[in-house]
Amino acid sequence: MYDIIIIGAGPAGASAALFTAKAGKKTLVIDSDQSVTKRAWVENHYGVPETTGPDLVQIGKQQIAKFGAELVTGKATAVARGEDGLTVQTEEGSYTGKYVVLATGLFADLAEASGITTLTGTEPRIKTIVQVDAAGRTNVDGVWAAGTIAGVSMHTIITAGDGAKVAINIISELNGARYVDHDVMKS
Ligand SMILES: Cc1cc2nc3c(=O)[nH]c(=O)nc-3n(C[C@H](O)[C@H](O)[C@H](O)COP(=O)(O)OP(=O)(O)OC[C@H]3O[C@@H](n4cnc5c(N)ncnc54)[C@H](O)[C@@H]3O)c2cc1C
Repeated sequence: MYDIIIIGAGPAGASAALFTAKAGKKTLVIDSDQSVTKRAWVENHYGVPETTGPDLVQIGKQQIAKFGAELVTGKATAVARGEDGLTVQTEEGSYTGKYVVLATGLFADLAEASGITTLTGTEPRIKTIVQVDAAGRTNVDGVWAAGTIAGVSMHTIITAGDGAKVAINIISELNGARYVDHDVMKS
């Protein structure tokens, strides 16, 4: 049983996993390696003068591994609530968790197959998004969404920030108190 299963390892999903794994939550990331970020050249990410999308995605995967998140390459096909929590079905097998975060970028098929309410996208070239509340919750109990699929502006710093926001909200719910992750300069 995972605390959190995150679908997607682009900026939104990897950023969410970075926070949940670093907070000690048992985290699984399932990714089909179709991130649009791998086509990007980025010069507008605060604190990063310039980088390539592939580097950003690769470093994100290294960061989540450092804190113990498990990464499985594959496609998730459905999410459903059962007696033992939420089950994520993939083409290879299934995984159970307390929370699921959809960070599937341009892909709404998983949400649609799982009975999650979708809306017409409002950002340029985004056809379908998942309906979320301000915290990131979808209409299905325990299933949250972050990043492009949640309708935020499609920029790496925003999608990554949205993933972090959703992760902090879930960690806070699991802990029963608002969570903050501040490291201090080593002297
Ligand atoms: C050509 C191009 C240039 C860009 N340039 C910039 C720029 O200069 N600056 C900037 O800020 N932004 C830029 N962007 C936008 C930026 O890349 C995106 O806003 C942002 O990275 C999207 O993050 P995301 O995590 O929401 O989605 P993605 O990075 O697309 O990640 C989604 C992940 O979910 C996975 N996934 C989807 N469905 C499933 C499933 N069912 N099962 C398992 N995995 C699944 C995909 O494989 C993918 O890895 C650019 C985008 C493009 C295409």
